[in-house]
Amino acid sequence: MKGITKEKQEKITKKAELLDMWESLNKLEEFSGVKNNLWFYHPEYFIEHLNRINIAAGKICTVPIREDFIPKTLTSKRPGTKLTPSFLTIHSTANSKSTAQNERDWLVNPGNDRKASWHIAVDEKEAIVAIPLDEVAYHAGCAEGNAQSFSIEICESGNRTKVLQNAIEVTVYYLREYNWGTTKLRTHNLWTGKDCPQILLNSEQRKNQTETWEWFVAEVGKKL
Ligand SMILES: [Zn+2]
Repeated sequence: MKGITKEKQEKITKKAELLDMWESLNKLEEFSGVKNNLWFYHPEYFIEHLNRINIAAGKICTVPIREDFIPKTLTSKRPGTKLTPSFLTIHSTANSKSTAQNERDWLVNPGNDRKASWHIAVDEKEAIVAIPLDEVAYHAGCAEGNAQSFSIEICESGNRTKVLQNAIEVTVYYLREYNWGTTKLRTHNLWTGKDCPQILLNSEQRKNQTETWEWFVAEVGKKL
């Protein structure tokens, strides 16, 4: 290998390994959903993605995650303020009919003049990122929560088991990206006392449910 430094050689080997990995993942049925992600289409994106999040094959988020940012001009939802998050706040939509796409559409609906938004919405099918994670969104109901955390909205529509599985996967994915443990998770309730994420909080009506906040955190923890 004359003329090629050891470092360069290592890089080439790694790239060949990653390409092999990409090819074998492409053949797996369970990764069919992932192929909607831009990074899965091209080996170059895939390698960049894997390098960035530094995770091994088989631990990749199987929920398709789409970035579909709302316009920067929509400052009532996307103020453009720089965010360096310390926490991930979990919400649920309190709407039994809306999908992630419906929630995304609502953000840009001219009839929606509320100063309220979110970063990521997840439903039984996919996750949509509406605001970059390094920008503030108005989700926590208080300045402190908005300035310290990014957010996931869990949709209350569709198959509840599937939605929660997807929410767990997506939560794990982002905790990994930030190299965080479950201690970085917050409920919306913790910031302001609001009954949110209502599908996980143990209110009087749901006191017998097994899918509690503690359950959610434990499931995320198992997959981290
Ligand atoms: Zn909330």
